[in-house]
Amino acid sequence: REKMRRRMESGDKWFSLEFFPPRTAEGAVNLISRFDQMGAGGPLFIDVTWHPAGDPGSDKETSSMMIASTAVNYCGLETILHMTCCRQSREDITRHLHKAKRLGLKNILALRGDPVGEQWEEEEGGFSYAADLVKHIRSEFGDYFDICVAGYPKGHPEAGSAEADLTFLKEKVSAGADFIITQLFFEADTFLHFVKACTEMGITCPILPGIFPIQLVKLSKLEVPQKIRDVIEPIKDNDAAIRNYGIELAVNLCQELLASGLAPGLHFYTLNREVATIKVLKRLGMWTEDPRRTLPWAVSAHPKRRE
Ligand code: FAD
Repeated sequence: REKMRRRMESGDKWFSLEFFPPRTAEGAVNLISRFDQMGAGGPLFIDVTWHPAGDPGSDKETSSMMIASTAVNYCGLETILHMTCCRQSREDITRHLHKAKRLGLKNILALRGDPVGEQWEEEEGGFSYAADLVKHIRSEFGDYFDICVAGYPKGHPEAGSAEADLTFLKEKVSAGADFIITQLFFEADTFLHFVKACTEMGITCPILPGIFPIQLVKLSKLEVPQKIRDVIEPIKDNDAAIRNYGIELAVNLCQELLASGLAPGLHFYTLNREVATIKVLKRLGMWTEDPRRTLPWAVSAHPKRRE
């Protein structure tokens, strides 16, 4: 974890990869074997999303906790476990945190989560906001966990104003969060303005931009700029063309973010389809192909690696 902190603050450019827990045991085995390969690319960490009971990933073999603990303990990857707090009791959350600790997890992305179907209501005695979860983790576990929180460059959909949203983001950081990962966005300016606004608000922790290489035409729920939708429309029946365009777009976005000096690293929303992300990282020269992690016959067959 110290290594993660040092690298995060080193000025070296790094990347991280988000996954969700698969629905089936076969899917879990498949994902875990891919984690092993992805370790070779040199991510600073991977993170695993959290799904409240009843959603995919809620059974034992495929739960977020199981996937995250395998990533850290079997694949040797620094791992962040997402955890949402709404609609869960204090006792359940505390139990989850103790289990995460027992399983060797040391990093939590503390989130509120979303209500199912109904309007959001504050919870009496429970956790109403992510800041409550951050405070709870710090009061129960001290500095044991590194804590990350979510940031919204375009504002959270429920926020009354961008300023109010930033005030609440600052509250999460003041409560003990170490860094921020942003919601995905498609234009570098969106992130640059957000970082500026955060700085003006006195938020000084690292802010990691969330990147999503577009791979499918179904973008309905995403806030995609019209100029991007206009390019996608005529190629909507051509999956390969959309993927190539998504890669091109992501490479350009990442280059702008890295050139700005304001992005400590790049965080990729892979949707468990990491091929496009790997292509982007290779184009950026950030995919390391660490020879220590390749199979022995690949090492001996590769003249450069024998040197
Ligand atoms: P909060 O920070 O609590 O904010 C929620 C809303 O409440 C905002 O509008 C904020 O402005 C407002 N607010 C905050 N504090 C107060 C206050 N004191 N008084 C009044 N209003 C307040 N969801 C999942 O279910 N599982 C996941 O794994 C997951 N991973 C995510 C990862 C990232 C990087 C991001 C960006 C989102 C993720 N989400 C996930 C979605 C997230 O749960 C939703 O966006 C949720 O609606 C808000 O969560 P939050 O932690 O940002 O909430």
